[in-house]
Amino acid sequence: MGDVLIVAEHLEGQMADITFEMLGRGKELAATLGGACRSLLVGGTKEMVGQLGAADKVITVESGGPFNPESELAALRSVVEAQAPQLVMIGSTSMGMDLAGTLSAQLNRPLAAYCSQVNAEGGAVKTTSQLYGGKMNVISELGSEPCVVAVLPGCYPAESGRAPGEPDTEAFPMPATAGKVRFKQMILAVLLPEGGDVDITSQEVLVAIGRGIGKKEEIEVAEELAKALNAAVAASRPIIDAGWMPKSRQVGKSALKVKPKVYLALGISGAPEHIEGMKSSATIIAVNTDKNAPIFDVAHYGVVGDLFDICEDMMDEL
Ligand code: FAD
Repeated sequence: MGDVLIVAEHLEGQMADITFEMLGRGKELAATLGGACRSLLVGGTKEMVGQLGAADKVITVESGGPFNPESELAALRSVVEAQAPQLVMIGSTSMGMDLAGTLSAQLNRPLAAYCSQVNAEGGAVKTTSQLYGGKMNVISELGSEPCVVAVLPGCYPAESGRAPGEPDTEAFPMPATAGKVRFKQMILAVLLPEGGDVDITSQEVLVAIGRGIGKKEEIEVAEELAKALNAAVAASRPIIDAGWMPKSRQVGKSALKVKPKVYLALGISGAPEHIEGMKSSATIIAVNTDKNAPIFDVAHYGVVGDLFDICEDMMDEL
């Protein structure tokens, strides 16, 4: 007991930041729980093993192909059954969601999903989960029994888990699976700006709008302000889903990650999936009518107020 197993996530040859975020935190938790911190790498390369130097050991499983939830789950399950780590940490990501719930059900381990915090004290694990897009925090006391947690990206610094080196490795065979899931094709959303549109990832100032903008016609208000600030307009997902702006303007988990000098968030609540895409901005300014909106947790400056009033005031000043 006391061991922690981190499921390494990678796509198209790139290790995902969530892997390092969990490794850094996993090491601290393993030290508190009195166990070792291991990482499971399914279908990775030798170079990737070298990126996981923060782990006490890297368990490798050859997959012979891109991510396949059925075989990755079978590999994960066999390692968890053989090594019985107390805590299994999986990214709360599209790939991780394919694994965490099923592993929990198959092995009868409790799962705490959407975790923004994972703590350990006296041998017991305690988590904080963000529900309803960050509007509610739920604390789960998982005790000292084996458990699974799905960790939201961006909650721990990736730097703490980046320790290139030559960790010990142990190879596990890929278990036979029913072969019901087969990889056919990788489809990545079209995120490149089309027809000369701006690239929001290279802007120094972004005026980002959310559902608080209300109507498509009101986007003009943000566009005028952006023009005066020599900025570009970006948006949260509902604006894109409504078809009001192209996908290449979306910031967040399922879109682009931006790091401008100034990120002005107008009428954006601050759901974890949005925060993931803009939290590294140098200065975040949020305008929201709801003083409890989670965006204020990451904003350096916040205004509780109506975005239209604030835009008008800013235009007057400019
Ligand atoms: P809301 O959450 O509806 O917030 C609107 C805010 O505007 C509220 O806080 C309200 O108080 C405020 N407001 C209303 N009127 C005004 C006004 N006049 N002045 C000032 N403030 C006002 N979201 C993304 O953004 N990017 C992603 O990439 C993304 N990927 C996702 C992937 C997955 C798998 C899932 C499940 C969700 C994803 N989401 C993503 C959606 C995300 O969970 C939220 O639903 C979304 O970010 C909410 O957008 P919002 O803040 O614009 O809207």
